[in-house]
Amino acid sequence: TDGRGIFRVYSPEMGSKMRRYHYLLEEMRLALGSNNFSLSFQPIVHVDDCSIDYFECLVRWHHPVEGTITPTEFIPIAEESNLILELGDWILFEACRQMSAWYNAGMTKVRISVNISGVQLKHRKLYDWVIETIEKAGLPPKALMLEITESCFIEASRETTESLQKLREKGITIAIDDFGTGFSSLCTLAELPVDVIKIDKLFIDQANDNPKYNKILNSISELGKDLNLKVVAEGVECAEQFELVRKMGIQCVQGYLVSKPETSNNVGTKVLRTNLN
Ligand code: C2E
Ligand code: CA
Ligand code: CA
Ligand code: CA
Repeated sequence: TDGRGIFRVYSPEMGSKMRRYHYLLEEMRLALGSNNFSLSFQPIVHVDDCSIDYFECLVRWHHPVEGTITPTEFIPIAEESNLILELGDWILFEACRQMSAWYNAGMTKVRISVNISGVQLKHRKLYDWVIETIEKAGLPPKALMLEITESCFIEASRETTESLQKLREKGITIAIDDFGTGFSSLCTLAELPVDVIKIDKLFIDQANDNPKYNKILNSISELGKDLNLKVVAEGVECAEQFELVRKMGIQCVQGYLVSKPETSNNVGTKVLRTNLN
């Protein structure tokens, strides 16, 4: 209350948050029309030989005045305003177009992975949208993977789940992202149409110091293996964490230890060269 017993529902801080929200929303609309978004690519590698399994595609926004704006700030705004639909169409096509170019240049063993938001699951006809996009980009289905967060999986309609199943049958890989943070009951894992679980960075951060997180990480890894899912550890930043997940038998890692997200040009020159030799 403000001291006079009146409940204040509008604080100055809220005002500035609202202003920032509307500002970024307007700027995002402009950015969509003027080429200010780009994609960066981060490799996910096999623990045993460090070969690349796939690249996760991460959107970047270069604002002419503000500089780089982080997706953790603008993706939630894009989702709340449904602008993620338009932005997400661009991201999926651009990712597929880039991967198709790499594929045709000889990079046929790796896939590209695209983050799909809950809003897209709700408003896009998932199966048709994805299949039409890969066809337009000339990308084989086996070269595409979709990452869907655990919490979106829990909220997904039956229709969405069926679309995901049909996409899998076409050869597209489906991953549960941020696994361990969405509070799904573990037995729903048996029901979901997925191939990969990505264990949230939180567990990797905590596991070396906190025995409880260590045990949970180990259990998720065992469960994944028992269910024949590929397990990926997110956010591996140091050798100690890499060693820990290797000992637990986790197959793949992603993190700054291996590589930060890179521009398509860097990926092209580094990976295509080593891959083709
Ligand atoms: P996410 O899907 O969990 O993506 C992984 C995030 O962790 C990325 O942040 C990546 O740069 C970061 N990361 C990877 N390795 C490390 C590490 O070793 N240490 C640390 N500290 N971070 C690491 P980024 O690119 O800032 O993206 C943040 C989130 O924004 C993503 O989390 C995802 O939820 C969302 N996002 C990014 N790009 C897209 C997109 O194209 N579409 C949608 N719908 N969401 C996106
Ligand atoms: Ca992701
Ligand atoms: Ca993640
Ligand atoms: Ca995350």
